[in-house]
Amino acid sequence: MISPETISAIFETARIEEVIGDFVNIKKRGVNYIGLCPFHNEKTPSFTVSPSKRIYKCFGCGKGGNSVSFIMEHERYSYPEALKYLAKKYNIEIEEEEQTPEQLQALDEQEGLYFVSTFAQKYFTENLFKKDEGKAIGLTYFKERDFTESTIKKFQLGYGIDKWDDFTQHALSSGYKIDYLIKTGLTISKENKHYDRFRGRVLFPIHNLSGKVIGFGGRILSSEKSKAKYVNSPESDIYNKSKVLYGIYFSRNAIINKNNCFLVEGYTDVISLYQAGIENVVASSGTSLTTDQIKLIKRYTSNITILYDGDEAGVKASFRGIDMILEEGMNVRIVLFPEGEDPDSYARNNHASEVQEFISKKAEDFISFKTNLLIKETKNDPIKKSALIKEIVKTIALIPDGIYRSVYVKECSSIMNVPEQTLMNELNRILRRKFRDKNKITRTEETPEYEEYKEGYKAEKQIDMDLYEGEFQERDIIRLLLMYGDKEIIFEEINEDNQKIDVPVNVANFIVKDIKSDEIYFQNATYQLIFNEYESAIEKGFIPDEQYFINHADEKISQLTIELISSPYELSPNWLRKRILVKTEKDRLKLLVVSSVLSFKAKKVDKMIIDNQKEIQKASNDEDRIILQQKHISLKNVSRDINRKLSRIIIK
Ligand code: ATP
Ligand code: MN
Repeated sequence: MISPETISAIFETARIEEVIGDFVNIKKRGVNYIGLCPFHNEKTPSFTVSPSKRIYKCFGCGKGGNSVSFIMEHERYSYPEALKYLAKKYNIEIEEEEQTPEQLQALDEQEGLYFVSTFAQKYFTENLFKKDEGKAIGLTYFKERDFTESTIKKFQLGYGIDKWDDFTQHALSSGYKIDYLIKTGLTISKENKHYDRFRGRVLFPIHNLSGKVIGFGGRILSSEKSKAKYVNSPESDIYNKSKVLYGIYFSRNAIINKNNCFLVEGYTDVISLYQAGIENVVASSGTSLTTDQIKLIKRYTSNITILYDGDEAGVKASFRGIDMILEEGMNVRIVLFPEGEDPDSYARNNHASEVQEFISKKAEDFISFKTNLLIKETKNDPIKKSALIKEIVKTIALIPDGIYRSVYVKECSSIMNVPEQTLMNELNRILRRKFRDKNKITRTEETPEYEEYKEGYKAEKQIDMDLYEGEFQERDIIRLLLMYGDKEIIFEEINEDNQKIDVPVNVANFIVKDIKSDEIYFQNATYQLIFNEYESAIEKGFIPDEQYFINHADEKISQLTIELISSPYELSPNWLRKRILVKTEKDRLKLLVVSSVLSFKAKKVDKMIIDNQKEIQKASNDEDRIILQQKHISLKNVSRDINRKLSRIIIK
């Protein structure tokens, strides 16, 4: 553990223009530096580095971050690796935090598991190339599968000798602890006897992101039906199946360069495609795709192409999993291989160029694919067709981006021969519902609505912000906090002696107090998180600055901050610039803050009025109706009040 002091020293010392300058040719332009973005292909520079804000931001591909995240992204380092890199560059001594004996033991143990796994991989590979049994059985098998020697070496394939405890004995006599052998699953212990998990099988080591071996898959060679074709390592402290993708260590650079990731079923598909020159490929081996795996891919690209062997039933079974990918805002395409072929066999039976061509020709966008596949089954049966419409629209509703959603509505309306408006109506219905749910999730306190809502509480994923009314106002508040939180604004007050006095308040204090007192919440969960941080910081007596949020451990927060403070559009509402003349910057800031808070509240109240009106319509008895109508009147009063204040500011 690197100590927090060291971490802040690194953040404070690292000069972003120097850190990035080591990798990218950047030129000074005004207060910033610009250059060609290293994360996407471009001809005119849109990659901007701001020394004063200590951030970079590409206006082409949207990537942005601080010195540490640049190194992580560019060099594919983990967080501690990036910190160590910068510490070295700036001669900062790394202070490691003292660890508890438990932490040390856990670390020791992990190290031990890595060592044993690497040791095993080396031994298995040696078996394959040096031992008679390995050569005769394992190597011959791989050669029959057309794996070249360099492929075998690259993927560190191996062979486990067909004896009870050949590997276990070798490992023990080389000094490895039986404990670690059992914990990695390489050795199985039963009734005080130890024997090898992988016997008489060819072995595919599984690597983590930094290329360390964390587990194995073993394929049997005989065609004995009584034995499982594949045996895999169990989960361990270093091997978490739901977080790992087979092949990712080898493919990630290609995934970035091609801006696309091919997803296949398993080991042999990955290796065969890789060998055919299609290197941007991974497999989820043995398990169905998890959200963690999707997020892992998303670090490198937002495009996934799933390669299936041609079995429609199998494809349909995977529709749920694909919905999860859409929810992450990624684009999904599907390639269906001809009956009886999988990516591995196809890559072996055809030339590399044919494989590439086949994939690029056949790749079909998932939603059209799904629609086409299911429409065949409705056979114009109206009931089935309306179920299909619902199903497809539900999938479209998962896509976070509004523009994409409407493109899909158009496309599906033409495939299904249904008016666009019908799909739109259904889509809006689903979005509204999600929206209501989401709205309530961000409430942190137990209000009556919240209690009522908890009944049907579902942790719906947050939909993108392009959805809701009032987003601009929410954003504005957070942006003001980030950019001017510590600046002072002056309010006039009358003291006991009836004299006008100036009371300075800083922006963060004013905004937080004002919004808190009205118990208003942000619809966007990340905004709410940032707001909460201000609140608790103020309680502790300080005001966090931009850098605090830029370097925040929660990536959502740091990304949003960078987005907000580097966004090119003007902060002030148009009318503010047009209609009032302000004397000083301070006056202007005060106007900005006060009017933004009022606009924010106005939007919230408007929404409450609309929601309340809906409740009135739904009310089942007079008593409820009267209460709701009273609420309506008081909300209207609040709204009038706010708008009056707003207009007073404008004319003043
Ligand atoms: P064959 O030579 O009969 O085609 P295979 O080794 O290619 O056998 P398949 O049955 O074709 O295996 O399986 C498809 C893919 O799924 C392969 O890439 C394989 O490595 C992988 N796979 C199959 N079963 C498992 C399993 N239990 N665990 C992990 N991966 C598996
Ligand atoms: Mn196969």
